[in-house]
Amino acid sequence: MANEWREHAKLKGKFLPDHPDDLQVFVHDGGPRITRNPAEAVWVTVTGADGEVFRGRVLNQPHNLRAVRQGSEIKFVVADGAEFPIMVTDKYLRERGAWVFHPCQKCGFAELFDAPSDLIRVVFPNTRPDAQMCMFTTFCPLCGGVQGVEAKDDPAATDSGPAYLTQAAKSPWWKFW
Ligand SMILES: [Zn+2]
Repeated sequence: MANEWREHAKLKGKFLPDHPDDLQVFVHDGGPRITRNPAEAVWVTVTGADGEVFRGRVLNQPHNLRAVRQGSEIKFVVADGAEFPIMVTDKYLRERGAWVFHPCQKCGFAELFDAPSDLIRVVFPNTRPDAQMCMFTTFCPLCGGVQGVEAKDDPAATDSGPAYLTQAAKSPWWKFW
């Protein structure tokens, strides 16, 4: 079916009446741990959909971003807590299924801008590459609140995670913030 995304439950109501494939999307270079460039809302014309992951082409030039420019082909998802859908990378999509993202305590945003492996590298630079990270917190890229990121398979059970992390697993760690 042509342009079936127009009727997609996640996108309905977001399109311009006169341009029924065009909507606004938050594009970014990554979250606040990775870049100082804030996300920007740009117009995107949708070109495809795969389940709840959409593809589109950026229609206007972002002001300060490196990863995205006018004409870029991007993927995006609709996220709770966000005013507009958000851009996602292939790496993020590949890793996302292995994690639970606890919504931001301030705004409810429940996605990340960065692939968890990229965040872990920045937040825990001394972690061994083969270490299993079971949970950590990060800053919400939309409002600066705190989000919890938790591995679906608890590596504490296999004793492969760093001790300080398995220790943290015993208490409801994200509630302390
Ligand atoms: Zn937030």
